[in-house]
Amino acid sequence: MSELPRTQSEAETYQRLRSHLAFLKLIDAAEALPRVLDRARADKLGMIDGLEQLLAVEVTAVEQRKLTGRLRFACLPAPWRLADFDYSAQPGVDQALIRELATLRFLDEGANVLFIGPPGVGKTMLAVGLAREAAEAGHRVYFTTAADLAARCRKAALEGRWATMMRFYAGPRLLVCDELGYQPLAADAAAALFQVINTRYANGSSTLITTNVGIGAWATAFGDDPIVAAAMLDRLLHRGVVVGIDGPSYRLRSHQARAEALRAGTEVRPHASR
Ligand code: ADP
Ligand code: MG
Repeated sequence: MSELPRTQSEAETYQRLRSHLAFLKLIDAAEALPRVLDRARADKLGMIDGLEQLLAVEVTAVEQRKLTGRLRFACLPAPWRLADFDYSAQPGVDQALIRELATLRFLDEGANVLFIGPPGVGKTMLAVGLAREAAEAGHRVYFTTAADLAARCRKAALEGRWATMMRFYAGPRLLVCDELGYQPLAADAAAALFQVINTRYANGSSTLITTNVGIGAWATAFGDDPIVAAAMLDRLLHRGVVVGIDGPSYRLRSHQARAEALRAGTEVRPHASR
């Protein structure tokens, strides 16, 4: 510390200030105190500016810790961001609609979001990107797959924890349920998913679902009970945004490039080794 307290009483006041910060567990402010005091003296800052700078250090650190906690809770399967999505590679996506969703207004309206399309078109990437936006904006978010939700609900039912499990899935401001329809849903799984969606619908909390099953096929695709599927769809669509994505598969792009090159008679060579 370049500018030590100048007098005995100033030194004592400084020590008391440090212990106040420690007592209040303002760890980052305590750590930044010498630096902020130095700068305040050098720039001849007044009390208001000095205090503001000190507390801003603490606020930034606490916000960062909270965000880290929310992201850990969210269980996002990848670090994808909406900004990484390449719209030119996916002409099937309505960019204006995704931008509107990124404003997160749909959370205020309790609207649900349905991404429908074949594998590889970026449904999970967009869902993860939106979930991250929501977490960064301060919302509690949880990401799961339909298969995982079904398995956990089944286990909870067997262990007498059904109500706790339902409260858990009702809690987050945004629940992402990925890959609905990739595996057939047993009747109890369809019932669990219906209860989760229905509870969240009643609370006005948004659920984002990605699926490869077009709306017309829902009645026959989920469980043995077309009525449950219809009721689920009814809740989802009442306050819902449906985003159909039916462009080319991003995963198959390199294969397609290869196939086209072969068709054109030009071999795609692997990278030459050095
Ligand atoms: P889906 O969930 O529809 O099967 P994913 O979101 O898992 O597809 O996308 C498959 C892979 O392709 C992921 O690695 C994803 O990051 C990538 N991908 C898909 N679409 C795009 C895109 N438009 N821009 C950049 N990467 C993309
Ligand atoms: Mg996916």
